Amino acid sequence: MLYNSTRDSSIKVSSAEAITRGISAEGGLFVPESIPEITLDEIKTLGTKSYADKAAYVFSKFLTDFTEAEIHYCADNAYSTKNFESESIAEISHLFDGTYMLELWHGPTCAFKDMALQILPYFLTTSAKKINLDKKIVILVATSGDTGKAALEGFKDVEGTQILVFYPEQGVSPMQKRQMKTQEGENVGVCALKGNFDDCQTGVKTIFTDENIKKMLDDNGMMFSSANSINWGRLVPQIVYYISSYAELVKDEEIALGDKINIVVPTGNFGNILAAYYAKHMGVPVNKLICASNINNVLTDFINTGVYDRNRKFYATCSPSMDILISSNLERLLYLMTGRNDAVISDWFAKLSAEGRYEVTEDIKAKLNEEFYGGFCDDEQTKATISEIYKKYSYTCDTHTAVAVKVYEDYKKETGDTTKTVIASTASPYKFSASVLEALDGTASDLDEYAMVDKLYELSNLAIPSALADLKNKPERFNDSIEKDTMKEYVLNDLGI
Ligand SMILES: *Cc1c(COP(=O)(O)O)cnc(C)c1O
Repeated sequence: MLYNSTRDSSIKVSSAEAITRGISAEGGLFVPESIPEITLDEIKTLGTKSYADKAAYVFSKFLTDFTEAEIHYCADNAYSTKNFESESIAEISHLFDGTYMLELWHGPTCAFKDMALQILPYFLTTSAKKINLDKKIVILVATSGDTGKAALEGFKDVEGTQILVFYPEQGVSPMQKRQMKTQEGENVGVCALKGNFDDCQTGVKTIFTDENIKKMLDDNGMMFSSANSINWGRLVPQIVYYISSYAELVKDEEIALGDKINIVVPTGNFGNILAAYYAKHMGVPVNKLICASNINNVLTDFINTGVYDRNRKFYATCSPSMDILISSNLERLLYLMTGRNDAVISDWFAKLSAEGRYEVTEDIKAKLNEEFYGGFCDDEQTKATISEIYKKYSYTCDTHTAVAVKVYEDYKKETGDTTKTVIASTASPYKFSASVLEALDGTASDLDEYAMVDKLYELSNLAIPSALADLKNKPERFNDSIEKDTMKEYVLNDLGI
């Protein structure tokens, strides 16, 4: 299996190269040249395997340049109960008749990003070895909270890697700050920046593309790589849990082999729902893919009108991991839908970057509507949904997941569709305690982060993830805070060059 770039189909690289490069030189994203098939019989057989074995099976269809031993090394290290507080890794909770919550947040940082960031370091280091890049891989991350912590946990003490995370000093929640300041591991670094998230991101990008710094790293046996969600190594692990959840539902006799399901995904950068699309086109029987957004509803409008327009107000919501106006992974979907037309994709995405807007053809719009339903809800509806689900089913969900539940309810009302449905549950409610408590109590709480967690426990009876419970007793290791124009010196100093 080789990988093409969405902006130049003539580019063909191995998966090891696609993963180490992260993004193609001309700005396109790597996509496998074809979508491998998985039969219903194969899916059924997967139902009897451990999550790591299921993952290895799916990876072997995409990462054909990896040996079986390499694939197992990656999957076994990432998906074990050392890292996940659930035997099944991705746990399915039965919400109500025919609706299932796919809980993707039993990993070390309590959000679904762990599903990919626990394995990415293994993919990266294995890939680098395969293409004889005998270098230490340096990961620089700019984070607004979740990605940074998940990347730190993933890369912590992984041989041959070093990671440095920058976050905006005033821009993350107290819990997220504690999570990062107390990070363990010998190869990790965390630094606050006196600026906002954009300053962090711009700083990291500038360092990334600085030829001088690149040369200095090279001279010292190091290279930069990227852990963000445009890396194929972050997408392929997400395909696994959609296949796995279908196999589990068949095994549990909730559905018959061959029955279609709907999949609902609370969406930001379009990575998670794109993985569901891949699972469908590999062979998982899927009726509708339901794309749920918060009030930053650029994707809802796109699915309904065929016009992608980021020229709009940006809202900070109670589902912050979906506050995004440029959904990067949409580029991969449109590449597939246009029949891998690199010229059209280059044109649309050049327009997006120059004017913030592009419009797809009627033909593509029809294809989008055949496969996807798009909907959104605001913060008030999100909180009302948390409260409603809690009262009706004694189930506590986080703000992002609640957006998905609400949009699914709207979809059902609008269409009368009774197909059984899997909802991707993307974060532990404890990670967003303040908003969840406000939804359950009706008023904003003035408790501190830890007291809120305790209060939420009283209400939900849901086990407190040990990673969050332990935080209170962990010493702070990283208290550096720097001015934004000193990032370059800080990075070089941190790397000892
Ligand atoms: C990142 C994130 C999302 C959005 O996922 P995408 O793959 O970017 O669409 C949704 N919920 C939570 C909790 C997240 O952290």
